[in-house]
Amino acid sequence: MTRRFTEKRLVIASHNPGKVREIADLLSPFGVDVVPAAEFGLAEPEETGTTFAENAILKAHAATLACGLPALADDSGLAVDALDGRPGIHSARWAGEERDFAAAMARLEQEMEGASDRGARFVCALALAWPIKEEEEGAAPKASPETVPETVVFEGTVEGALVFPPRGDKGFGYDPVFVPEGYDVTFGEMAGHKKHAISHRANAFAGLVAECFGEA
Ligand code: IMP
Repeated sequence: MTRRFTEKRLVIASHNPGKVREIADLLSPFGVDVVPAAEFGLAEPEETGTTFAENAILKAHAATLACGLPALADDSGLAVDALDGRPGIHSARWAGEERDFAAAMARLEQEMEGASDRGARFVCALALAWPIKEEEEGAAPKASPETVPETVVFEGTVEGALVFPPRGDKGFGYDPVFVPEGYDVTFGEMAGHKKHAISHRANAFAGLVAECFGEA
């Protein structure tokens, strides 16, 4: 059975203020004290995974091992059909060190020139990891350095289509070029609470909440 979250504090293993804000909003009904990793001065680990899930796990483990608190990490991005799933796990990197998403969206538009397929999806992997318990005196031997924090992972997606030029100034990242299926406005034009109801992050959260936070 999946471990339930019964602790009071949870570190959000992200340095992206947009994500931290969305995660804090989504967790607000559960009375959890959400602490951004930045408050612990944690460095961002290198994202060496080859999938969203691997990178989310890597970030959650780094934070829980450094802080001794449970940690929640999100790895997410935009997968574009006409670009064989790019930028995918490299979505943040397309914006460079300066986090210049105007440039990243311009690159998208340029790379998609001539492509009739506008289909894309946002993908989110959430990893929740618990710190390795210090053994009590007289109890079993201490955890070895190879011991891996107990971890659960949930994934969510939202399908949509890309539009250019970018529209709207809400949200973050690629929101201004993404129109979710069934809507005619971009995430950048949509009120936060509407995006939160249908986003890839919301879908991944639904799994997390059902398994770890909701009524037992
Ligand atoms: P990560 O911090 O490596 O997971 O980077 C995720 C990147 O994917 C972000 O910096 C954005 O570029 C993009 N991204 C993820 N989720 C969203 C979203 O909800 N809206 C817009 N862009 C997103």
